[in-house]
Amino acid sequence: MLVTQLQQALGDDAVSVDPGVRRTASTDWAHMSPVLAAKLPAGLADVVAFPADAAQLARTVALASAAGVPVTPRGKGTGNYGQAIPLRDGLVVDLTRARRVLDVGAGSITAEAGTSFVTLEAAARRSGQELATFPSTVGSTLGGFLSGGAGGTGSIENGWLWSGFVTALDVVPCTGSAELVHLAGPDTAPLLHAYGTTGVIATATVRLRPRRDWTALFASFGTDREAVDAGLALMSALDPQPRLVSVDEPGIVAALPADPGMPLGRTSLRAIVDAGVLTTARQVVAAAGGVVEEVRPGGPALLTSLSFNHATHRVQRTRPGLAHLQVGGPALVERADEVRALLPGALVHLDGLGGADGPEFVGLLLTRYSGADALYAAMDALRRLGVHVSDPHTWELTEPLDDVRRVAARFDPAGLLNPGKLPAAVRA
Ligand SMILES: Cc1cc2nc3c(=O)[nH]c(=O)nc-3n(C[C@H](O)[C@H](O)[C@H](O)COP(=O)(O)OP(=O)(O)OC[C@H]3O[C@@H](n4cnc5c(N)ncnc54)[C@H](O)[C@@H]3O)c2cc1C
Repeated sequence: MLVTQLQQALGDDAVSVDPGVRRTASTDWAHMSPVLAAKLPAGLADVVAFPADAAQLARTVALASAAGVPVTPRGKGTGNYGQAIPLRDGLVVDLTRARRVLDVGAGSITAEAGTSFVTLEAAARRSGQELATFPSTVGSTLGGFLSGGAGGTGSIENGWLWSGFVTALDVVPCTGSAELVHLAGPDTAPLLHAYGTTGVIATATVRLRPRRDWTALFASFGTDREAVDAGLALMSALDPQPRLVSVDEPGIVAALPADPGMPLGRTSLRAIVDAGVLTTARQVVAAAGGVVEEVRPGGPALLTSLSFNHATHRVQRTRPGLAHLQVGGPALVERADEVRALLPGALVHLDGLGGADGPEFVGLLLTRYSGADALYAAMDALRRLGVHVSDPHTWELTEPLDDVRRVAARFDPAGLLNPGKLPAAVRA
């Protein structure tokens, strides 16, 4: 019944019950976690819809809502916590055909949710601007990043995606109504990193910055500490701040593509810096005991593709059996020796971030996987050292969730949006 209604509303080529299409639309990058991989597949779409614009999306969700069928929105499926997996089957709404840039203004860009970051950045740069931030998965979608991501290139200067990146959203609620709801400013917050449980994003307006002349700087160091000190100094001293700073110890460098900018056996620091501050950047690297291996004007895209969980992905390809922990906070670098003593043999990848108290590093600790219990024990031990740890091995949203639950109750009273991701509130 729903399938027929969707075909009438969207056209036959925008609705699929093909087993292969349903399977593809029911997976994401959760296999990056050995804990989650053991639980996959956890759900299978009964039908997949491909709305081409906001009006079709609204109609699609209204039909599913009226039929009481679960709705899981989907972008490019690069989320690595199983966010896009339809745990209760039902309808998967693939947004990748809704990919038009609608407006590029001074300081912001508005686009349909399925627009990729490659398209967004190109449109912004044509207007003399650039995205404030974007993930290392540049092919992923605007709606998917806002609903399932956190930050990336640009986050040193502009913070996480919930630090003012989003100025407005047009959202489809799951209430049976085909009307879009416009949200602006702080009202957008309960939609961010909520896995689509508080509404399906149809269009989003996000911040642009003036376009800069970025270049890639490759440096190497004899010790991790020197590279970390240089990275912190680059983030503090350069104006404008670097768009990205990544640090990898030699064990990770060995898993990255061979490149003269990243000599084997040395700790690699890579930064996307404004060409106008290269002289200062070189001085900072030298003062910290490092060597500038190369400056490559065409290199920023490569550096983005080696940042954040791309490091995890590359290391896991060459060294299977490793699990990743997402870590951050000053203790990560200030108590690095204790962190390493806790997890002997672990590999560390770091990316710069503009924290409330100044620049810091967030990181990925890649450690041998010997079961979920040992992994959770390691997370607890890291927290006791003062390291911030977020859990990449669960597909449930993590607390605090009061605002998410409040908006979900309004926009999804029947609990049909991506069910299984928003845990029930625990009563005190
Ligand atoms: C190798 C690798 C590197 C990564 N690097 C980064 C990184 O640098 N920074 C970062 O933040 N993340 C990173 N991620 C995670 C992931 O890429 C981001 O979350 C990404 O931007 C998700 O976009 P997507 O289009 O693939 O969304 P999907 O994976 O399809 O969806 C993500 C979540 O959003 C929901 N959703 C999708 N579209 C909508 C919509 N229109 N409205 C409401 N909900 C929606 C889905 O239901 C799902 O819960 C990485 C992942 C991998 C595998």
